[in-house]
Amino acid sequence: MSDEPTAPSFRSDVTVELVRSAAADSDVIWSARVSTAGEQSLEALQQDPEKSRGLINFLMRDRHGTPFEHNSMTFFISAPIFVFREFHRHRSGWSYNEESGRYRELEPVFYVPSEDRKLVQQGRPGKYEFHEGTPEQHRTTTGAMEAAYRESYARYQEMLAAGVAREVARAVLPVGLFSSMYATCNARSLMHFLSLRTRRENSAVPSFPQREIEMVAEQMEEQWAQLMPLTHAAFEKHGRVAP
Ligand SMILES: Cc1cc2nc3c(=O)[nH]c(=O)nc-3n(C[C@H](O)[C@H](O)[C@H](O)COP(=O)(O)OP(=O)(O)OC[C@H]3O[C@@H](n4cnc5c(N)ncnc54)[C@H](O)[C@@H]3O)c2cc1C
Repeated sequence: MSDEPTAPSFRSDVTVELVRSAAADSDVIWSARVSTAGEQSLEALQQDPEKSRGLINFLMRDRHGTPFEHNSMTFFISAPIFVFREFHRHRSGWSYNEESGRYRELEPVFYVPSEDRKLVQQGRPGKYEFHEGTPEQHRTTTGAMEAAYRESYARYQEMLAAGVAREVARAVLPVGLFSSMYATCNARSLMHFLSLRTRRENSAVPSFPQREIEMVAEQMEEQWAQLMPLTHAAFEKHGRVAP
């Protein structure tokens, strides 16, 4: 095994993988129909959910939220720590497990914004607009970030080599470091997350999320929409408000 320090690497993307799911439009329908059909609502499992598009739309429009909770999706997400810090504010209907900086040596993978990431912020809090950065601003940003990342990771390794505990040494690592986690949710908690962490013209209540958590949200939404297309369409139709 080599004693050479690991060289930092830099990424501009985030990844989201749906690792496990039990989630379908029919789950919404049978759980809603118990209201009127009792145990016979299970028969709805065999029916074509297309026939129940109207029921799903009604539930979404009138914000009958609980039928959207009888399903589960687990995502494996790799993103910078500053994204997870925002992510973990979502408490209701979410379970998280993240890699540990106490039990393992953290890999030197760091976030740098891509060339199309808007760099310049104008306006006031709550009303910010973001504009393209100049090539010079991009060079400054990438240069500053990479230099800071290299320095902090070298100091981290210096402490580990001196026998300092990982949980102490990690204090020098920045929030641009990549981490990974499992996040499990249901369609209702996911819709609440998407309503806050995506920016869309058709949102009844607009939100202004940081671009990097929106990149995660977009990938989650795409994968969820394939599992529950009628629920996703109703979410879109009714202004992207979680029921
Ligand atoms: C654009 C944007 C900017 C933000 N800026 C900041 C910031 O500057 N500083 C900051 O600290 N946070 C900030 N946040 C985080 C924000 O305050 C919320 O913590 C985050 O969006 C999670 O929302 P939530 O509490 O609705 O979600 P969840 O925790 O998932 O809760 C879902 C819903 O459950 C109900 N609920 C959950 N817990 C309680 C409770 N204890 N009491 C009553 N009802 C409850 C509420 O109806 C809530 O909407 C920001 C979020 C966004 C989207």
